[in-house]
Amino acid sequence: MTAAVLYGREDLKIETVAIPAVGPGDLLVRVGVALTCGTDFKVWKQGYHARMITPPALFGHELAGVVVEAGETVRDRFRPGMRVVAANSAPCNECFYCLRDRANLCEDLVFNNGAYAEYTLIPGRILRENVMEIPAHLSFVDAALVEPLACVLRGIEETGISSGDTVVVIGCGPIGLKFIRILSGRGVRVIAVGKRSSQMNAAERVGAAAVIDCSKTENAVSAVRHLTEKKRGADAVIEAVGSATTWQWALQMVRCGGTVNLFGGCPRGTKIEFESSALHYSEITIKSSFHHTPRFIREALKAISHGEVSASDFITGEIRLSELPDLFQHMKNRNGTLKVAVMP
Ligand SMILES: [Zn+2]
Ligand SMILES: [Zn+2]
Repeated sequence: MTAAVLYGREDLKIETVAIPAVGPGDLLVRVGVALTCGTDFKVWKQGYHARMITPPALFGHELAGVVVEAGETVRDRFRPGMRVVAANSAPCNECFYCLRDRANLCEDLVFNNGAYAEYTLIPGRILRENVMEIPAHLSFVDAALVEPLACVLRGIEETGISSGDTVVVIGCGPIGLKFIRILSGRGVRVIAVGKRSSQMNAAERVGAAAVIDCSKTENAVSAVRHLTEKKRGADAVIEAVGSATTWQWALQMVRCGGTVNLFGGCPRGTKIEFESSALHYSEITIKSSFHHTPRFIREALKAISHGEVSASDFITGEIRLSELPDLFQHMKNRNGTLKVAVMP
């Protein structure tokens, strides 16, 4: 089969490799579509990911497709021809964190890569927890949004946002836009902070009530505060960029008693400074959300199925598998803020 193989830093090749052998508890899926993801872009740039992937390795983790072969112990649940969407990981359900309802922090998360290929093998652990049949009315592209959307839905719940709140979303890449779409659809007034007019237009299209282009604004913090009642600040702020500057902005944009979710992961070694008294006397809650759990994988499919989000809101184009290495090179100039459907 044809597959993308990651060899290291900015080294991705399209090769012919063997179709994976199916073990008794595994599933072989013909990939209908794989979606590029900001995480894949980061991995491509640094050449590895401590927990997710060690090169040389098959690459890509957001996918939907058709079952080709089911291992003998999973044939009762999966049959050839079934359309499925699979998450990129699954927890053990036995460790300290899993038993405390924090399966996203599982000490033994099993990750799967290999979506950028004609066929992909889904290992037993992920089958047990995080593979679902795609409802007949959903396309592969819509279904493949499940994994990133699950992270977003969990982030929203962790932040504790209610209808009627004013929430700032910093960052209008694919993840930021998903936050804006879901929140605005749930009666939240969203102020989007981004850069470039294309991002600002996209934010408005998915429901932002106000947009601030920080490349054209001298002080994004005061611009946000001016858009809140009595310049009090927002009820909650979600940071979906992953930089020291925007993490600091988030802390200054929230009102007293509000919650900040530092959702975007910064490069390793990043240090953040903040004013301790501002934090203490304002009773700000600071959180960070990482990854997803099986519950949110299911909720994501439900949200997509009900039409709360659709791939057309976030997908910027469609390419063939052979074009993938060039696409990553191109993304370098756009800092990874593209989401593209890869057709094997
Ligand atoms: Zn992803
Ligand atoms: Zn666990």
